[in-house]
Amino acid sequence: MESPKNSLFYFKAAYKAALKAFELREVPIGAVAVYEGRIVSIAYNLRETLLDPTAHAEIVLIRRVSNILKRWKLVDVDVFVTLEPCLMCASALKTARVRSVYFPTLEPRFGAVFSNVSLASLEKEHPYHHLVEWRLIDDERLKRLTGELLRLFFKARRGKVDFERALGEARDLFEETFRNFS
Ligand SMILES: [Zn+2]
Repeated sequence: MESPKNSLFYFKAAYKAALKAFELREVPIGAVAVYEGRIVSIAYNLRETLLDPTAHAEIVLIRRVSNILKRWKLVDVDVFVTLEPCLMCASALKTARVRSVYFPTLEPRFGAVFSNVSLASLEKEHPYHHLVEWRLIDDERLKRLTGELLRLFFKARRGKVDFERALGEARDLFEETFRNFS
């Protein structure tokens, strides 16, 4: 589908967060929350740093947003994330009742919105009272960026390429992707 207004701006912040994760040797996935047209919080994967298996970008994000807005029902919050959420995150986003979730890339192994386990189709079969608007954004540049960040990261982690070099390439790709957009 088409990106919503300002979505490139929000995605840029999400990818910047993913790069931050990369720097910390965390799987590079980033997410931002938008409330009343403004970014209210930014988060990235922190599993290694926190030694917490649930510290995926989306979980860290909704915890922060709930803290900031002083409520757990995030019905007027939109989330932009660099990769299709996993089952845990998709479920948590739904439990937080976020309004919509945008992502440019499917995750065939662990994605749980449209891919492996489909929360979107489960929703049709079960009478959940809150329906999240799940939106796969059709943008080749963003899709490529997500894929390349992950590819470079895992290549470096397996020792196939120098870590700093992979990080440098990831940064260049980020700059290139958003060059004509500031
Ligand atoms: Zn997750």
